[in-house]
Amino acid sequence: MPAFLADISTVTPGGVKMNGREAAILADVMRLAYERGLINILGGNASIRLRDGFLITPSQKPKNMLRAEDMVFVDWDEGPKGHASMEWMMHREVYRASGSYEAVIHTHNPLTLALHEAGLKIDPAQYVEAYSIGPCIEVVPRLPPGSRELAEAVGNAVKRCRVAVLLGHGVVAAAPGIYEALDAVEALEDIARIRLLSLVGGMHQASRKP
Ligand SMILES: [Zn+2]
Repeated sequence: MPAFLADISTVTPGGVKMNGREAAILADVMRLAYERGLINILGGNASIRLRDGFLITPSQKPKNMLRAEDMVFVDWDEGPKGHASMEWMMHREVYRASGSYEAVIHTHNPLTLALHEAGLKIDPAQYVEAYSIGPCIEVVPRLPPGSRELAEAVGNAVKRCRVAVLLGHGVVAAAPGIYEALDAVEALEDIARIRLLSLVGGMHQASRKP
């Protein structure tokens, strides 16, 4: 853990005292996800579980320059205390699905989506770097972003696997820690790249055969 993240405390616009260390970590994670090409500038979201709710990234702010005080607290019962990500219900359903999930990230991995649009899937058991993904990947059908249907479908998916691909949309990873969740969506994208490049290589080899 970087030392500069250790002693930051802040207050949300809603006046909720929150853990600034978690807020600063969320800002760091979103910057990394943007720089990695997993989200566009206003896309994606991430959260960390707290005792009475969870802390989530805000809606409609550039994800490469978020500050700790931009994060929004979501109370388990009362909902968001500020302008939270539109997918806050999805995060809540993931936490409800398993007490072992302490962090959630949602990104828009382009190559992972390309692979699934082509009707292909990823078998995490085939790749060493898939340890953070776990043994399986769920696939969630196309549902409207920000909807209760999507939130419930993702909540059901992560009861079985900690990573889910949302067709036509992106991916969700839940983990005991936020950097493990980020690692999972990064690994997913790397494996998708490997699979797509190996398919192109195979087609090239086949075309050269007499
Ligand atoms: Zn999304």
